[in-house]
Amino acid sequence: MSYGDPVTERANECVVALLDGTVQSVDVPLLRPDDLAVLRGEGVFETTLAVDGEPRDLDDHLARLAVSAELTDVVVPEPDRWRTAVEAGLAAWSSGRSPDGPAPDEAVVRLIAPRGPEGAPEAAGYVMVSALPAVSRRQRATGVRVVLLDRGFTPSGAAAAPWLLAQAKTLSYGINMAALRWARSQGADDAVFVAGGADATHRSAGEREVLEAPTSSVVLARRTPSGERTLVTPTLDGVLDGITVRRLLAAAGAAGWATTRATVTIDDLHAADGIWLVSSARLLAPVTAIDGIARDDGDLTREIAALLDVPGGGTGPASA
Ligand code: PLP
Repeated sequence: MSYGDPVTERANECVVALLDGTVQSVDVPLLRPDDLAVLRGEGVFETTLAVDGEPRDLDDHLARLAVSAELTDVVVPEPDRWRTAVEAGLAAWSSGRSPDGPAPDEAVVRLIAPRGPEGAPEAAGYVMVSALPAVSRRQRATGVRVVLLDRGFTPSGAAAAPWLLAQAKTLSYGINMAALRWARSQGADDAVFVAGGADATHRSAGEREVLEAPTSSVVLARRTPSGERTLVTPTLDGVLDGITVRRLLAAAGAAGWATTRATVTIDDLHAADGIWLVSSARLLAPVTAIDGIARDDGDLTREIAALLDVPGGGTGPASA
């Protein structure tokens, strides 16, 4: 049986590396049937991109893995053991690369820590390396149409309910995946979560906050008539502390943009000069429509892609 995107070179390939540096086939069973990750989606993970065998922002991902572990009481292996596995996985991945393959070679690197069976002293850990899906690469250029979906809580509601784990990257992505399926059933490509719940749904679009997307952070650009340019992303209440958006804001700041974390409302979204979904593997996807209303950010995506150091500029012809 074939898995993955058939258009992508090496789409069906996947390398698994254990924390001692052993590399094994994805066909070799790894988890116990009673692992709480299998039974309840318990555990934490990270995803990053490796370009020509070099993982991006690995230290930041290891630091956030530790935060997620702390928030969920999962004991994760030490960073050096993860580094060993990442290195081994990427070495095996790169050695299998065809000289005729797409350049640069972009691979998705996942660091996965399932909680383990009840009472396990430490999460098991493994690293998985696979091809960046063709659709991710394509969406950097073609963008995504989004629908706005009620998340069921407000930023302040999430801050008051730490058990929602909005700031942990856990293996429980069932709701996020359901949101993506819902978006696709509405003819969109992706979704943006907005504040929901009893205290939000009666508020106007000028009051209702934007949170994040199911697998990415939201960033928008504003230009003032005087020419000042600002990149804005929602405050951290109720959203994952995205590593890509942090990197983007830092690079934009160095390039002369004003940058801020602030309350972003639905009205702000519609009024923005550009909106992007940013995340570690896809890197960026310009938003081309919101709830069926088309939008255009002119040439800003090219500039944002350069700030994010997107391989190939990200906005060239969509490649497979
Ligand atoms: N928000 C959510 C819910 C995510 O799942 C992700 C990435 O997977 C992000 C934001 C973006 O985070 P990062 O840029 O660290 O990949």
